Amino acid sequence: MHTYIEQVIEDVKQQNAAEPEFIQTVEEVLRSLEPAIAQHPEYVEADILGRLVEPERMITFRVSWLDDRGRVRTSRGYRVQFNSAIGPYKGGLRFHPTVYSGIIKFLGFEQVFKNALTGLSIGGGKGGSNFDPRGKSDGEIMRFCQAFMTELYRHIGSSVDVPAGDIGVGSREIGYLFGQYKRLRGSFENGVLTGKSLEYGGSQVRPESTGYGAVYFLQHLLQHEGTSLEGKTVALSGYGNVTWGAALKINQLGGKVVTISGSDGYIYDADGISGEKVEYLLWMREHNTGVKAYAECYPSAQFYPGETPWGKVPDVDIYMPCATQNEITLNEAIAIVRQGVRYVIEVSNMPCTNEAIDYLMQHGVVMAPSKAVNAGGVAVSALEMSQNSQGYAWEADVVEEKLAEIMKDIHDNAAAAAEEYGLGYNLMAGANLAGFHRVARAMYGQGVL
Ligand code: NAP
Repeated sequence: MHTYIEQVIEDVKQQNAAEPEFIQTVEEVLRSLEPAIAQHPEYVEADILGRLVEPERMITFRVSWLDDRGRVRTSRGYRVQFNSAIGPYKGGLRFHPTVYSGIIKFLGFEQVFKNALTGLSIGGGKGGSNFDPRGKSDGEIMRFCQAFMTELYRHIGSSVDVPAGDIGVGSREIGYLFGQYKRLRGSFENGVLTGKSLEYGGSQVRPESTGYGAVYFLQHLLQHEGTSLEGKTVALSGYGNVTWGAALKINQLGGKVVTISGSDGYIYDADGISGEKVEYLLWMREHNTGVKAYAECYPSAQFYPGETPWGKVPDVDIYMPCATQNEITLNEAIAIVRQGVRYVIEVSNMPCTNEAIDYLMQHGVVMAPSKAVNAGGVAVSALEMSQNSQGYAWEADVVEEKLAEIMKDIHDNAAAAAEEYGLGYNLMAGANLAGFHRVARAMYGQGVL
């Protein structure tokens, strides 16, 4: 391994010792950049990697709000403005009790590469709070969002930093955040947030875009392997926005979805999760029911409390983790290999640990990395920004066509970057290399900042 890369990783470990998720993603990405660094001594000279792993800015703030009983509650808010070399910071907000600086920084770092891969002019950022939306009333969610935006508004803007949704933040939360931003600014600037409702500048297909994009990416991967989705059985995790979109598109393209999951366990439905069952996920997500509610509604489904589906689903062809980080560890990877499953497609951010990735790839499993597979969400967010700035709205078929083209380019660029460095069809490394080249060239050209 190049000594410069090892040195940067060592520094990150020392300076971020309490943030294991951030260290994990930095190690995975930087190690795959070795062939690029070997060919570009000027990047070492300019300390591009040392600058890439240090956020341009990390904002932490207090969020105090009143619950329904009139009690004062206090949460912590974050926004990391990681890298603006190729455009304004762009990335979602996550409201979940597991959120802390290490989660926000890992997500922000991944976002820099993901956004570069889309080919669009968007830099990387991420934010959120340890606020737990589960069990909160609509009024509490609204007051929390207003309190959160009361600090965040001074740091964002349509050409500065454009947040969107992520876990726990859907169009309802984006609506409350946008309303408060508008009130504080005294001006209707809807390019400041994406994932909005259609009535005030949202884009068609944005809710479906991450899941749809992931399945478009999968289509290209399967095509490269000489096969297709038709007749394949797919196991998904999660039951939120991304899982819903992926399930819709898999069904449209002739695949069969047999699992979903939540924090409470997983569901196996041998009859397939299609039609009204997919629509039911929307209601479950809105009410944070967990997946037990699915088994109560559809008696054909089996509920496995406290378990995950990895390595356990009968006759499965493809595993697609869509819920959260570190869903697949070495133990699950071993079970997947033992089953002889050929495809693991990362959809949620960093769903596999580095050990799991190494094990799966060493055993011939074809993998695709989340930063490429889930980039359709941010790509349609960027299309939402252009629609807002031009004051027009595209029809759904136009947006979907653009999304499909972007996902094809992301797949092809990742595959070509890996090929260029003699790595074969290694999309994991190829996505990092392709994203890196764009950001590194821009950082180098802009001088020492
Ligand atoms: P979501 O609608 O809030 O759904 C999240 C799902 O993950 C839920 O099913 C939730 O189940 C489960 N989950 C969350 N934290 C969990 C944990 N610690 N343990 C077990 N299950 C957990 O969020 P989403 O928008 O679908 O996002 C899912 C993933 O995709 C995330 O990694 C996100 O960063 C990534 N992503 C999303 C977008 C987007 O456009 N939304 C774009 C790019 C990437 P419970 O409620 O039962 O916990």
